[in-house]
Amino acid sequence: MGYIDLRSDTVTKPTEEMRKAMYRAEVGDDGYGEDPTVNLLEQKAAELLDKEAGLFVVSGTMGNQVAVLTWTNPGEEIILEAESHIFYYEAGGLSANAGVQAFLIYGEDGLMDVEDIKKAIRPKGRVFPKTSLIVLENTHNRAGGKVLPISYMRQVYELSKDYNIPIHLDGARIFNASVYLKVPAKEIAKYADSVMFCLSKGLGCPMGSLLVGSKEFIEEARKNRQRLGGGLRQAGVIASCGLVALEKMIDRLEEDHEKAKRLYEFIKEIDIFDVKKPETNILKVKIKNGKEAKVFLEDFKRNGLLATSFDEETLRFVTHKDVSFDEIERAKEIIYKVSKLYK
Ligand SMILES: *Cc1c(COP(=O)(O)O)cnc(C)c1O
Repeated sequence: MGYIDLRSDTVTKPTEEMRKAMYRAEVGDDGYGEDPTVNLLEQKAAELLDKEAGLFVVSGTMGNQVAVLTWTNPGEEIILEAESHIFYYEAGGLSANAGVQAFLIYGEDGLMDVEDIKKAIRPKGRVFPKTSLIVLENTHNRAGGKVLPISYMRQVYELSKDYNIPIHLDGARIFNASVYLKVPAKEIAKYADSVMFCLSKGLGCPMGSLLVGSKEFIEEARKNRQRLGGGLRQAGVIASCGLVALEKMIDRLEEDHEKAKRLYEFIKEIDIFDVKKPETNILKVKIKNGKEAKVFLEDFKRNGLLATSFDEETLRFVTHKDVSFDEIERAKEIIYKVSKLYK
């Protein structure tokens, strides 16, 4: 029997329909703008988020990096949450690629205080860097898949407009947020000038992300994608999966949230753990007995369960389409058994 893999929703594999779509995909050289499947995916993504244009990129990281490159110039500053993906997990791309520095704000549950954002915006003046971008992340990965409320997004957006600063939304899991909030994703995207989302996570595609924004922004972003070596050729083979994902894989994310909820209900009864109630598909479990996360992860693995950690004292479980409700039940048993070892 294989492992129950709750390390990430990135482990999901393409569906049969995706594999068939790949086989049949009409393709051309995207460098000449001639891949009809890529063009269609970019157009559909833009429509879905109510933006003018879209750009297919190989990964969420590339989409974020291209966005930062496009909005900023070297020596400028961007405001972002201290545990945001762009700051935390993109190998220092901010400084290496865009030459910008980060103004970090430690958020509460992924949400930066709006007053703190306001204070972080630099005044004009000879000695100050220019604040050229504010980044939001929805859902917030390291805050355990936390959904930023629409009212919060609107507040930050209005503030940013007072200062004429664009907002980039790292919406790797924007559809998890939209399913949770029961609003179309464009109601969230409305409060950002550019949005990146991933096809390769809960939506099940083998790879790929989209960056959407104004026509002018995407034109410039296309150039920056080229600069990072992300120009594509017959990428319709991959983009075809994205089209299937946007049509068939969004609504079912609800099921992943239900799986996370079931795990939560179980884990919260185990007293060596302190688990945060999940809104979406990421479970953040704090270990209270002083044992390190890696000890648990090894024991889970020995019993057939894969998970990962946020840090030495916090476990991470991510639910997705390729783990069944039965496997969630088995995962509970394994978690219980391992927790008994360390009472
Ligand atoms: C996964 C993720 C990304 C990056 O996507 P990759 O395709 O893995 O590069 C960006 N932001 C958030 C919030 C993520 O969870």
